Amino acid sequence: MASKVSQEYGTLVFNDAVMRERLPRPTYKELEKVIKEGRRLDLDIANEVAHAMKEWALEQGATHYAHWFQPLTGITSEKHDSFLAPQKDGTALMTFSGKELVQGEPDASSFPNGGLRATFEARGYTAWDPTSPAFIKDEVLCIPTAFIAYTGEALDKKTPFLRSTVALNDQAKRVLALFGKHPKSVECTVGPEQEYFLIQEKDFASRPDLIMCGRTLFGCEPVKGQELEEHYFGAIRPTVNEYMKELDDELWKLGIPATTKHNEVAPCQHELAPVFERASMAIDHNLLTMEKMKVIASHHGLTCLQHEKPFDYVNGSGKHDNWSIAADGKNLLDPSDTPEENLQFLVFLTAVIAAVDKHQDLMRCSVASAGNDHRLGANEAPPAIISIFLGDDLAGVVNALINGESYTSHGHEIFDVGVPQLADVVLDTTDRNRTSPFAFTGNKFEFRMCGSQQNLSDPNMVLNTAVAEMLDEFATLMEQVPEEEFASSALAWIKDTLTAHQRIIFNGNGYSEEWPKEAEKRGLLNLRTTADALPAITKPENLAFFSKYGVLDEAESTARYVAKAEQYAKLLNIEANTMVYMVRHYYLPALYDYSGDLAQTVATKEAIGIQSPAERELLAELTDGITLITQLADSLEVKNKEAQAIKDPGLLDDAYRDVVIPAMEALRAPVDAMEQVVGHEYWPFPSYNRMLFYV
Ligand code: ADP
Ligand code: MG
Repeated sequence: MASKVSQEYGTLVFNDAVMRERLPRPTYKELEKVIKEGRRLDLDIANEVAHAMKEWALEQGATHYAHWFQPLTGITSEKHDSFLAPQKDGTALMTFSGKELVQGEPDASSFPNGGLRATFEARGYTAWDPTSPAFIKDEVLCIPTAFIAYTGEALDKKTPFLRSTVALNDQAKRVLALFGKHPKSVECTVGPEQEYFLIQEKDFASRPDLIMCGRTLFGCEPVKGQELEEHYFGAIRPTVNEYMKELDDELWKLGIPATTKHNEVAPCQHELAPVFERASMAIDHNLLTMEKMKVIASHHGLTCLQHEKPFDYVNGSGKHDNWSIAADGKNLLDPSDTPEENLQFLVFLTAVIAAVDKHQDLMRCSVASAGNDHRLGANEAPPAIISIFLGDDLAGVVNALINGESYTSHGHEIFDVGVPQLADVVLDTTDRNRTSPFAFTGNKFEFRMCGSQQNLSDPNMVLNTAVAEMLDEFATLMEQVPEEEFASSALAWIKDTLTAHQRIIFNGNGYSEEWPKEAEKRGLLNLRTTADALPAITKPENLAFFSKYGVLDEAESTARYVAKAEQYAKLLNIEANTMVYMVRHYYLPALYDYSGDLAQTVATKEAIGIQSPAERELLAELTDGITLITQLADSLEVKNKEAQAIKDPGLLDDAYRDVVIPAMEALRAPVDAMEQVVGHEYWPFPSYNRMLFYV
């Protein structure tokens, strides 16, 4: 008997099984080619699909449809239209045409566009992405779409990502052809591990910083943090367990293969990981998961925080991007036992290593945000320096290849293409270096620098394009080589390429103090903040790189830079404003009350001849605190206003990094110090002690 879960799994999705059942066979076959082989879609097919989709959606209780897209904010957007078509005779039909399926026209002038739409004065439209299935959410048929200007310029995160998958597919096929393989499609696969915090809704609702910014801007160190290491993988508390169960049920209905859930390192921090899927689906599913996580929390009196750093003093949240490449479903980063496949594995491995080294700056940019700056480089997340962890054994293989030496591991002789059992060598790797930003984990890479609230399109777009470029280089060289020399030429390419890029391989502790120094000696980039990282996008070589592979043209890259630079400054502006607001309207009044009451006590005691030196001292401390906090709030306000006047996005971000952020930190310190000495009932907001350790 099928379990309840397997009966309900995917019931809200217009998935392959539904399509096979409901579409005429030839239509289904045509659509399959569109999805799997990237063929063009014609309108007749679209009309038939639209009809079947509508009938199915109506049966599931849907009344509306929406093109679901991902503007440059990174989150998802949707505009609902009903299927309703009123008739002259007062009745109504429910209609949905192929045209409505494939194309929509949201009035989207209010989305960030980095100047693109102003420049081209074009309206935006949404275009169906058949590689990610439609689904029903709250009685709305949601159709995953790309968001594009009429000039064809991408206005979203999905379009360039999809283009990068085309580049990867094209170049990987050329490489595989050299190995005598002709798969229908090569695609990247992604499994995102999502970290998040759950706190009590009532605590969330009483803190303007959490409401406005998603993170606490003040709060002194809790009496207990994560030092006992008791939360990680600990028993899940009942409320959270109920939440996770409901979340799983909802995700499963949406065909999202959520599988792993556990407590994370920080108190109230948790993680959810799905089984990996084709990347376009995995990214859409991750965005849906994040949305559901927030909605469902409110059913349990909880709030889900997805900011990268909701609380100082404990770990922040990331999102590990597990990434690999598959040819017709076969993982190309799976080391194997047969010599030819070993060579093929080493070609792909080498391409990834070289790609990441060559495009460190763009990789770093792809995860840069004001929120993530709190994690990268702090002692909890990988440093802002990109490096690759291979594990001792695979690193040994790489060294042997570079030096032309033999290498023995686990009793196996490892050297040239005659390499026996590379699979055993790699699978025996038990070492899992958690400090590495980009780690090989057996049969995939794990990019660990991504922030918890980010859209994974950006990092995967960079990675796919960078790997496509190296595969292109390999194929272009090898297509000239006679067949009998292929193996030796391929090995020579591997050796030369690994030699040129071996600086990126680092198996040591990425949190150590020595690493940044060592990395600098190796010539690796250390772009510490978003303001440092973003300008790389508009470097001529990077503009040319994305253009060459049809992923982003120069105008699109430039627009993305402007949008990201502005977003960084906008977020920090909101944070600065919120700090000043909280200080003036809550913290200072609380300090006036407490110090006023204390002054009364001192005066009353001293009037009857009782000395009160401790209270006097505290009173002086509070008064000094009030003075200092007032000055620092005024100063933050002025500095933020000055920054806001800067027009150039690069200079604007520099001002936030160099002037406003230090002013924010300066203001936080005395407020947090006051929290340590002020009476509990005077303090206007829940403390870290309370928020992190609720029962
Ligand atoms: P860990 O916590 O040890 O990093 P998890 O098992 O929690 O590992 O998560 C690993 C993630 O990697 C899962 O989402 C899994 O589906 C995904 N994954 C496994 N194989 C691949 C692959 N070939 N391509 C992409 N992701 C993969
Ligand atoms: Mg992981």
